[in-house]
Amino acid sequence: MLDLSGKKALVTGGARGIGKAISQALWRAGANVAVFGRNEAAARDFCRSLSNGAANGRAAAAYRVDVTDGSAVAAAVKQVGKDFGGLDIVVNNAGVARDNLSIRMTEDEWDEVLNTNLRGAFQVCRAAFSLLRRSRAGRIVNMSSVIGLTGNAGQANYAAAKAGLIGLTKSLAREYAAKKITVNAVAPGYIETDMTAALSTEAREAIVSRTPLGRLGTSDDVAPAVVFLASDAAAYITGEVLNISGGLVI
Ligand code: NDP
Repeated sequence: MLDLSGKKALVTGGARGIGKAISQALWRAGANVAVFGRNEAAARDFCRSLSNGAANGRAAAAYRVDVTDGSAVAAAVKQVGKDFGGLDIVVNNAGVARDNLSIRMTEDEWDEVLNTNLRGAFQVCRAAFSLLRRSRAGRIVNMSSVIGLTGNAGQANYAAAKAGLIGLTKSLAREYAAKKITVNAVAPGYIETDMTAALSTEAREAIVSRTPLGRLGTSDDVAPAVVFLASDAAAYITGEVLNISGGLVI
């Protein structure tokens, strides 16, 4: 198992869905975990359940942060640095979908998805840079999507944000390399969470039929790849996009 003992990790949207599985996997690997989310009570309960009992001096801490709010992000990242005594790993997982055909898409639907999924990640990266630089082995993992690679009817906003995250990942990989910070992305296919709960049976069957491994993914299919990219084992990997899609996109 990969060892993240002593590492300090931050996961946005880390108390629910894929983010929750990532927080749990980072914790199991030995990291301290800071969780950002809009629902502070839920994030706090989750962190308590994580560190329940044998924390061995390790911390799991919740912070109420809306990633679309740049000044709140900057203040919270700074606070994590103080509370944890540094920061080594950032996982930009927070995201929303507001699907609509582009002809009907409202400016609010466009803005909410771009501001959360893309601008939010950009703001977290910028706020975390000086802490990650001091780590000398900083890691950023951005949550893209196969939709960012292929596009999807009814998801112009989401596809643009997720494709944008790939551009952000590659650009920051080049900018931050001199400071030994790696920046990678994962691109999951369809994963069973609240976000995909509304998919119709027909849509689900259509996805499964196009997926060589013959099923939708789970959050636990995604989390180990994030732990790997966050670990010392991935020290020479940067600017990459790892598909986790059961072969849906090959
Ligand atoms: P969920 O809807 O289950 O969870 C979304 C998470 O994002 C929640 O933890 C939520 O926290 C957080 N979040 C949303 N908006 C904000 C915000 N403004 N500020 C802070 N946190 C926010 O979705 P998933 O777990 O499915 O998705 C997680 C990520 O994975 C997203 O980026 C998504 O686009 C991506 N993804 C999902 C796929 C899927 O099939 N499910 C496939 C590919 C990528 P809270 O509500 O507490 O603020």
